[in-house]
Amino acid sequence: MTSLISERIVTIRASVPSSVRLIAVSKQVPTELMREAYAAGIRDFAESRIQEAASKQTQLQDLPDITWHFIGNLQSNKAKKALELFDWIHSVDNLHIAQRLDTLAQQLGVSPLVCLQVKILPDPHKSGWMIPDLLADLAALNQCKNLQIQGLMTIPPRGLDEGKIFNVFNDTRNLAQEIASQGWGNIKMQHLSMGMSGDYQLAIQAGATMVRLGTILFGHRFQLAKI
Ligand SMILES: *Cc1c(COP(=O)(O)O)cnc(C)c1O
Repeated sequence: MTSLISERIVTIRASVPSSVRLIAVSKQVPTELMREAYAAGIRDFAESRIQEAASKQTQLQDLPDITWHFIGNLQSNKAKKALELFDWIHSVDNLHIAQRLDTLAQQLGVSPLVCLQVKILPDPHKSGWMIPDLLADLAALNQCKNLQIQGLMTIPPRGLDEGKIFNVFNDTRNLAQEIASQGWGNIKMQHLSMGMSGDYQLAIQAGATMVRLGTILFGHRFQLAKI
């Protein structure tokens, strides 16, 4: 039986280069639909709330080869739980939380894969480093030896036209190249986590290595919530 979700996944896969990791954003999505995505080959799921992720991981214990990605706003008091639940944290958005994760990771004996969240344009609705602030924090981030810093994550401000969205993604790639050229021993810039349902094609054109897709795979979350 082919489900609507598996059809969507086949279509999207065909439009995404195989080198780009397709991450299914499953926040507010019931686990039955996540199982359909899994059956269609998805192994990367992203959540934005710790509690919701914990409950889903319990329900999906029989699917052991899932890679879990955290994409939400991370508060200090949830950092330990995030390290216990997630393989990747895309939303490390300030030095304080990076250092907290580093300390906790050492205590727990884990070395999480992380992206640094950047804001290319000012955006009061989003967290993340503005470019000069990130450059100033690199030396301290390089000391976070228990974190495997893999690259940058960004979300463009709402309401930009396509050209401006592309520029945000392109500037993010250029920033990653600039950081990579500085040769920090503990900061790799091999990944760009950028692109959501409405803009992932632009992100891929600009060099995204991971796209985070929710609505286009699972449908609108406000409708899912009524199921
Ligand atoms: C919700 C969310 C997504 C997915 O958004 P869609 O538009 O539904 O694809 C991607 N990234 C982050 C950080 C999100 O919070």
